[in-house]
Amino acid sequence: MAAETPEAPECPPESLPGAHMSPAEFRRHGHAVVDWIADYLEGIEARPVLSRAEPGSIAAKLPKHPPATGEPFEAILSDMDAIVMPGVTHWQHPSFFAYFNSNASGPSILGELLSAGLGVQGMLWATSPACTEVETVMMDWLLELLGLPDAFRSTGAGGGVIQDSASSATLCAILAARERATGWRTDRAGVDRRLCVYASEQTHSSIEKAVRIAGLGRDNLRAVACDARGALDPAALTAAIAADRAAGHTPCAVIATIGTTSSHAIDPVRAMGAICRAEGIWLHVDAAHAGPAAVCPAYRWIHDGVELADSYCTNPHKWMFTNFDCDAFWVRDRAALVRTLSVLPEYLRNAATASGRVIDYRDWQIPLGRRFRALKLWFVMRHYGVAGLRRHIEGHVALAQRFAGWVEADPDFELAVPAPLNLVCFRHTGGDAINEAIMQRLNDSGALYLTHTRIGDRFTLRLCVGGTHTEARHVEDAWRRIRAAAA
Ligand SMILES: *Cc1c(COP(=O)(O)O)cnc(C)c1O
Repeated sequence: MAAETPEAPECPPESLPGAHMSPAEFRRHGHAVVDWIADYLEGIEARPVLSRAEPGSIAAKLPKHPPATGEPFEAILSDMDAIVMPGVTHWQHPSFFAYFNSNASGPSILGELLSAGLGVQGMLWATSPACTEVETVMMDWLLELLGLPDAFRSTGAGGGVIQDSASSATLCAILAARERATGWRTDRAGVDRRLCVYASEQTHSSIEKAVRIAGLGRDNLRAVACDARGALDPAALTAAIAADRAAGHTPCAVIATIGTTSSHAIDPVRAMGAICRAEGIWLHVDAAHAGPAAVCPAYRWIHDGVELADSYCTNPHKWMFTNFDCDAFWVRDRAALVRTLSVLPEYLRNAATASGRVIDYRDWQIPLGRRFRALKLWFVMRHYGVAGLRRHIEGHVALAQRFAGWVEADPDFELAVPAPLNLVCFRHTGGDAINEAIMQRLNDSGALYLTHTRIGDRFTLRLCVGGTHTEARHVEDAWRRIRAAAA
């Protein structure tokens, strides 16, 4: 029986409820939104850094059901203030010193807006050549900016790609390592060996998540011992690999961290690279937060030995003025990554792909679809230039170092570990309870936001200086308040 054809609506579309926003309306509301963002950033210091919302309080202000008919844009925007803002922690506040920053900037926000405006989905080169080609060149620019090895350049066998997060980049690296170690047996037939992954005890939680998602099993992630500073001990790595080989297992990947999340420890990448080369193991370097320090020649030493790595990632969305999400991921052998992740169905076949002359970034990541993220990176690098980026990042490190100096000079406080860059781990000498109380008082005050870790099993405060608008006066104020909170 033939299905009935629905009748075409009789009235013209603009008189139907929920008409599309016309270009003229978009222009008007768009200006209002840009004004709203500019006002927000201009007045951000007056807000308490940490949201004081109680669990469920924001959800309770939202209607239970979607609106039956469309609402005026003014009403929607005014609910940003009424409903959303009380539940926002102000990550761009200059006194945000918690976790690692996720800094943003005017050029980045505007690049993101343009990406949304184009609404491009760049899964294939053919689905928007500019989306792919701008990204390839930006990754080569960024490689140069960070002093990364030429082996990662797109003009050779390597190349870079923008991922949503360091977690995804690491997952891609571990998947490629797994496939390389098992001869790309995607049918898995005959693959019954245990594949082992090695990382320090201080490695980020995303490594275990990647190992689990990759199907390697959490028990096959080896937590390698660290020195007192939190950096991996290469002798312990060698011993762990030898023990696994003796047990008939296959070492598959090693993860080195440049700037651990707890304490900014820097693993000995060169020594780990030598071990991986000798053993034929994939070395992935996770420099999610600390990587942008290498924009400054004075801190380029953090990348010592990276030329021995198979892959590397860092997050411009943490410390390079590029709003979330933007992780930069490079591989030495892009063929290994593409072979791991490529599946080509008929409906994606096209002449450009068949020619072999273009990059299809869908083969370099887990999802198929992808946004035009390279625009914000392009805008950031052009707005600041190399000199501007250096000046701001050096400024952050200098402020953190000054703060570390004040801690060291105060008899009531101590550094938990030396601070190599812009993260200072410190504590009051009076024990865990007073440090917990200091953090609680400061965060409750709304004036600043700090988080903690445990080092040597002692409660330790962390202060990270990486906010786009953080200046000396904010760090000075933080130190004054920390001392007052201890009194
Ligand atoms: C922040 C961080 C990650 C995770 O970053 P995402 O981009 O949020 O996945 C991984 N490793 C280190 C060392 C980090 O600091």
